[in-house]
Amino acid sequence: MLVHRLNALKDNYVFVLEDEAARTAAVVDPAEAGPVLEALVRLGLRLVAIFNTHHHHDHVGGNRELLEAYPGIAVYASRRDRGRIPGQTVELEDGDTVAFGCERARVIFVPGHTHGHIAYHFAGCGHLFCGDTLFAGGCGRLFEGTARQMQHSLSRLRELPEETQVWCAHEYTLGNLRFARTIEPDNAELAERLRTVEVLRAQKMATVPSTMAAERATNPFLRWESRQLQRAAGAIEPEEVFAYLRGLKDRL
Ligand code: ZN
Ligand code: FE
Repeated sequence: MLVHRLNALKDNYVFVLEDEAARTAAVVDPAEAGPVLEALVRLGLRLVAIFNTHHHHDHVGGNRELLEAYPGIAVYASRRDRGRIPGQTVELEDGDTVAFGCERARVIFVPGHTHGHIAYHFAGCGHLFCGDTLFAGGCGRLFEGTARQMQHSLSRLRELPEETQVWCAHEYTLGNLRFARTIEPDNAELAERLRTVEVLRAQKMATVPSTMAAERATNPFLRWESRQLQRAAGAIEPEEVFAYLRGLKDRL
């Protein structure tokens, strides 16, 4: 399975998954249809499925137009998002498996950013599509869930293999790492990653995907065990450290 990263809207990424043998495609979180339709033509692929992580418009905005071009395709999303995903055909639960070509993804229920948010983990090829839950160097805001829920969701993602490719839905990495640097200045890997990302972004290059190893080492929202972060938060309980960090960043 190949993953093609498309730019959409202001800072969204849309992912087109390619089954090379079958010449079919699935799309993760089509913010808008135009770039997806263009990519399908360019790559010579037929769309067979849409995978949505959550209901926000910048993740489902292209569903309707893609369904008009490819009637009858499967639209996967959380059971908890029933009624707010255009064209949804399959209601997913935690632990469900979805297939694309010969690859299979496990559905991980990750509430916090929204009530229904799910992630798709393709264990065989090591890809994670995590929407607005885990970002490179950061995490999504708590629009519908609690800090406890989000910290638990992130703890589940953090357990995935270190080599997992983390495909998040926005290019927020530079701002995230600059924030991270202010609260964990002694983290040498974080400083190094920030330098790398500054160079990439100065050239308008993408920082997605990252790896779970890099996230574990540098993303403060996965680092509730860091002494420096615990001291800053004045707490040692993971959800309290997380809540402190999320609150601090929200007030920036
Ligand atoms: Zn969102
Ligand atoms: Fe989003």
